[in-house]
Amino acid sequence: MKKLVICTCRTYHRIPQNILNEAVKTATDAGITCEIVPDLCREGASGGKKFDDETFVFACQTRAVKAMFGQETNCMDIREISEEKIQKAVKSLVEPEEWIPWFPVIDETRCIQCGKCADFCMFGVYAKEDGRIRVVHPASCKTDCPACSRICPANAIIFPKSNEARLNGALPEAVKPSSEDQTSFRERLEYRKKVRLFREN
Ligand code: SF4
Ligand code: SF4
Repeated sequence: MKKLVICTCRTYHRIPQNILNEAVKTATDAGITCEIVPDLCREGASGGKKFDDETFVFACQTRAVKAMFGQETNCMDIREISEEKIQKAVKSLVEPEEWIPWFPVIDETRCIQCGKCADFCMFGVYAKEDGRIRVVHPASCKTDCPACSRICPANAIIFPKSNEARLNGALPEAVKPSSEDQTSFRERLEYRKKVRLFREN
């Protein structure tokens, strides 16, 4: 069931009443259920609840929401909520964009299980399972983001949809990451911040 979930944050009261009213009206007019939750953190603490990709959540910390309620959860920061963003969120539920299957594949013959890709990706695409790094949420990968492949020390990450031979596995031999690819920690943080802003807008 398509649903808009809005956390009114009992502790910090982060949503003005007029915006809340607007959200309820916009969702209801579009035939979507709007659920007002007084404290989503409390529900997260009790565990068990998961959202699917038919739910759009407005809450404080988008990454924490995904970690608590599932990486598939569509989420936007409530502190940046506006009428326009509510309309966008509702539209994304009514007319979901077709997924472009852009995602990483790990070449097991090269991977050295260092875990850098999993530490780097902020969208939960990777996880460690049975002592090995695996792609567990391919659909959470951001289209055209090849960032983790650039920091992989074994050049083991392939993006089949990429046009670049270095990324799509067309090169027969492993290519060591160039100095350009070995971006500094600061640059990587900046990059991830940009991706986050892009996603939330
Ligand atoms: S960064 Fe590369 S080598 Fe390290 S775990 Fe990920 S895929 Fe394997
Ligand atoms: S390409 Fe970007 S979003 Fe996709 S898995 Fe790598 S770091 Fe995560």
